[in-house]
This record gives sequence, structure tokens and C-alpha cells, in this order.
Amino acid sequence: MKKFRVFKNPIGEVKVVKVGWSWPAALFVPFWLFFHGFYLYGIIMFFIDFISVGISHVFIGIFFLGKDGNKILADNLISKGFECVMEVTANNIEMALSIYYKNKESNNNVNENHKFELKKEININEEENSTEKVCTMCAETIKQAAKICRYCSHQFE
Ligand SMILES: [Zn+2]
Repeated sequence: MKKFRVFKNPIGEVKVVKVGWSWPAALFVPFWLFFHGFYLYGIIMFFIDFISVGISHVFIGIFFLGKDGNKILADNLISKGFECVMEVTANNIEMALSIYYKNKESNNNVNENHKFELKKEININEEENSTEKVCTMCAETIKQAAKICRYCSHQFE
């Protein structure tokens, strides 16, 4: 199992970034840079790879991007307004995402239940303060202060 961080931005976009070593970053250096939108660095890396006949690729991959690639992705998200909302342990990104959504769903359910309880309380209070009562004879709703039912003329004490 690996550790993942779930990031979310104010408009609700969700991204998952692994914590720790990144094989894709270590192995595919310039492609990885391109894939994640670091185009300028990608071009520079292609160029350096070409000049060094791939030596820089191995070097930067193993000593830099493999170790820091995921951290760079996380920092990049944070700089774009994302916030880390959860840390999960999972086998892969898909599993991490499903754990995140499941957790969110159960949180929502808790909130819904809470709202329901509040609503019930409000209803009870309203009933207590109600200015109406139900006639014991005809079951029509009449004013609390009424001494006589306006529907059936039943008299109250
Ligand atoms: Zn009545």
C-alpha cells in the first residue's frame, strides 16, 4: 500500500498525488515533465538528454525527479489554489479516489441526518408555541383560546 494525498480546489476539482518516490518521473523524465504541463522544463530536458546522450536523463531521473517528482506536483497544485483535504493509504490513484469519495459521502450523510434532527426540533418547538389546537370532538383545527368549536360547537372547559 502507498500513501496518497487528495487535493481539492475551491471550484471542486479533485487531484490525487502519491507521496514519496515516483517511478514515472524517474524513468520518463522529459515525458513526465510534459505530461504534467511543465513544458519549458520538458524541452530543456529533451535538449540536455540529447547533448548528454541520455546520461543526464538517468542522473536527473534517479537523483532528482524520482525523489521529488511527487512533491513538485503537490507544490504545483498548492500554488494553483488546491488544498490537501485528505491523506489515504491505497494501492493506486483510483483506489485513493474511491476512498476519498466514499468518505465524503458518509460525511454528507452525517450532515443530512444532523439537518433532519434540527428540523425535527424546530417542528416540535413550533408545535409547543402553536396558537391552535385540535377539537376533541370533530378533529378540526381551531384557535388555542377558543372556548367553543366553530365547527361543531363543542364547548371546552
Ligand atoms: Zn369541533
